[in-house]
Amino acid sequence: MSKILEYIKNLPFWHFIMLFVALAVILTEILTIVQSFILYRELRSELLILGFFTPAISAFVVFFITALVLRQLKDKEKRLELSSQKLLESEQKYRALFEKSADAFLLLDGDKFVDCNFATIKMLGYQSRKEFLNVHPSQLSPPKQADGRTSFEKANEMIAIAYEQGNHRFEWDHKRKNGEIFPVEVLLTVIPFGKKELLHVVWRDITDRKKQEGRLEYIAHYDVLTRLPNRALFADRFKQAIAHAKRSQDLLAICFLDLDDFKPVNDNYGHDVGDQLLIEVAGRIKTEIREEDTVSRQGGDEFALLLGEITSIPAGEQLLKRIHHSLARPYIIDGYPHKISASSGMTFYPFDEGDIDTLMRHADQAMYQAKLAGKNRYHLFSVEDDQHLINQQALLNEIEQAVMNKEFQLYYQPKVNMKTGKVFGVEALIRWLHPEKGLIPPLDFLPLIDGTDLEIKVGGWVINEAVVQLEKWKNQGIELEVSINISSRHIQSSTFFDQLNDALDCHPLVNPCDLQLEILESSTLGDINIISGIVNSCQNVLGVNVALDDFGTGYSSLTHMRNLSANVIKIDQTFVRDLLDDPNDYSIIDGIISLAGAFNREVIAEGVETTAHGIILLILGCNEAQGYGISPPMAVTDIPKWLVNYIPNQEWIDFCDEECTEQEEKIILLRLTTEHWFKNVTNVILTMEDSSLGKYLIQCHLGEWIDRFKRDEIFDELWLEKLQKAHDDLYRVAGNLVQKYQNGDIDAARNGLDEFNISYEQMNKVLEQYQE
Ligand code: C2E
Ligand code: MG
Ligand code: MG
Repeated sequence: MSKILEYIKNLPFWHFIMLFVALAVILTEILTIVQSFILYRELRSELLILGFFTPAISAFVVFFITALVLRQLKDKEKRLELSSQKLLESEQKYRALFEKSADAFLLLDGDKFVDCNFATIKMLGYQSRKEFLNVHPSQLSPPKQADGRTSFEKANEMIAIAYEQGNHRFEWDHKRKNGEIFPVEVLLTVIPFGKKELLHVVWRDITDRKKQEGRLEYIAHYDVLTRLPNRALFADRFKQAIAHAKRSQDLLAICFLDLDDFKPVNDNYGHDVGDQLLIEVAGRIKTEIREEDTVSRQGGDEFALLLGEITSIPAGEQLLKRIHHSLARPYIIDGYPHKISASSGMTFYPFDEGDIDTLMRHADQAMYQAKLAGKNRYHLFSVEDDQHLINQQALLNEIEQAVMNKEFQLYYQPKVNMKTGKVFGVEALIRWLHPEKGLIPPLDFLPLIDGTDLEIKVGGWVINEAVVQLEKWKNQGIELEVSINISSRHIQSSTFFDQLNDALDCHPLVNPCDLQLEILESSTLGDINIISGIVNSCQNVLGVNVALDDFGTGYSSLTHMRNLSANVIKIDQTFVRDLLDDPNDYSIIDGIISLAGAFNREVIAEGVETTAHGIILLILGCNEAQGYGISPPMAVTDIPKWLVNYIPNQEWIDFCDEECTEQEEKIILLRLTTEHWFKNVTNVILTMEDSSLGKYLIQCHLGEWIDRFKRDEIFDELWLEKLQKAHDDLYRVAGNLVQKYQNGDIDAARNGLDEFNISYEQMNKVLEQYQE
């Protein structure tokens, strides 16, 4: 009963009314049945039974329908309740999703946000939803976006795209309540809402992602150690700088800078110190250039600079000088001072036009020139340099090819003892037998390979070739010492000693002391200790001889003589060549020979072209000679024949046999120098080949010799006066000839040669009558 009451109580109102009406009808029908029953008992009419059944049936029908409807209604009610419950649950879920999301969710209606979640409020730094929703959307962004467009303009465009496509995703800069700008990714989705369309907005904070991207971007474009732009960014800046230079019509300087001797810093002090030095170098360069200019680290100790708005080449140079000056200041790292310099090369756009690779190559080439010129300097690129380098590179390739094609040959120039007439050795001199250009002398190609690995390769070939030839001669019974020229770099290379050792090992017939190494005196500069060590090992371990070549041309000959234990000193040919013209060269050779004697070294003169050269050298005490006066260098095949046909210079042998006094030697010297001078003047006047006739007059050193003899008091004074007079006459006649010659009166000059001859004879007569 209570359940029924409960049920009725919970019935909805119109269900209750319906039930009430149905019950009323049923009750009415029951009353009718009761009434019919009473009447039937009294009247006993059969019809009353009908009156009894009809209401009963209709009561039943009403009851049945009411029950049925009520049940249906109840079911529907239940279903409704269920669905509304589901709806509620779903709404709760979506609300939770909306509220709990880490992304900011918002609803935008026109230009007003109508709803937002908690993340939005938190992200933008507001206190409450109410406060946030009162803010106009335009106040949530900075005036301009990262791409430079105004926020207003860009926002309108983004919204328009979203409406057109249904949704749109893009990046945006937002502004927090405290003014801080941060990046978000925005997703706009159009959602129909009743008759209108709202925009569902999602903001995702991408600050971390942007930072990560920024880091990657940094690594891709910057050098992590020095924080300077790297090659990739430099290339990009280069394009911009060229475009700018084109617009502004100013010069753009492209500079390549390389630190000098940075490797020893790394090797001796460690990489940490090296790194700190590089950082400091980067900083110093940056402070010298403008903010708009670029300095980039190209790798290692190489830097490239882009210097814009340069008004002139001197202005560019000035800037470079400043940078060099700054870099040369000491670096204090971990309390220790370090010094380093730089070499740089510069080229200027638009004088030098081309793509980045070309201009960088040009700046690099110029830098290389600066290195070659002695480091710690700059060099400006020039087209001539470029062409020169291109040719040089082509030649280097050609030389390398020539080594492989065996196009090199050693020529041999005899060395003789003038006193005995004996040929005791030969100097091996390299030649390039070019298939098209013919015979190329060494000085036309050796300087090109100077400082390259090819130089060592060619040097190695020379060693082997000379040793092989020594062995061949040994087998033929030809006893000769062979000297080979060794470049400074080759002798200092790690492979030199082994190369020489191996060559001698492979040819045991060769006596090592028959091999002589000629080292250029000038090339030992700066490396004297290293070279001295190698020279000692070559002499003491291998047993080969060493000669100091071109002696007298170096800067500190005395030091070299003292520190290098060379067996032989080879007087440079330039002194020998001018021996008859210049008393100074005579004095130099005199000095070299005395020095060699003091240090117990043998001495040989090269460039002996005439018998007179030989005689004077003999007077000075040098017995060994090499030069065209004996023989020019010749192919190896010519040597045996030459040796067979060789006739020693009899004048040299006779001179040595005569045993002259000091005065006699000086008279010979005077006679030879005067004869040399006389022949030169006569030859010029006759052939008119040399326009510098005056040179011979100016270089008549006869007078100087007479002065020296007067000082030394080795001749009779009266005789010297006579000699002076004869010299002055000869000189005056020569002066007149030159005067005529220079006035174009060639015939008169030639006619005057007789008088010149007489004066010369007169002079010789005086010389013959010398008195001590
Ligand atoms: P060098 O070693 O001083 O050789 C002497 C040079 O003077 C040779 O020139 C020779 O031909 C030349 N000469 C000899 N006598 C006379 C003379 O009476 N008058 C004149 N005017 N010149 C004379 P070359 O063969 O042209 O060699 C030049 C230089 O090239 C050599 O000077 C040497 O320094 C270098 N050289 C030659 N061959 C080699 C080599 O195989 N290796 C290396 N590293 N250098 C070499
Ligand atoms: Mg030599
Ligand atoms: Mg020489």
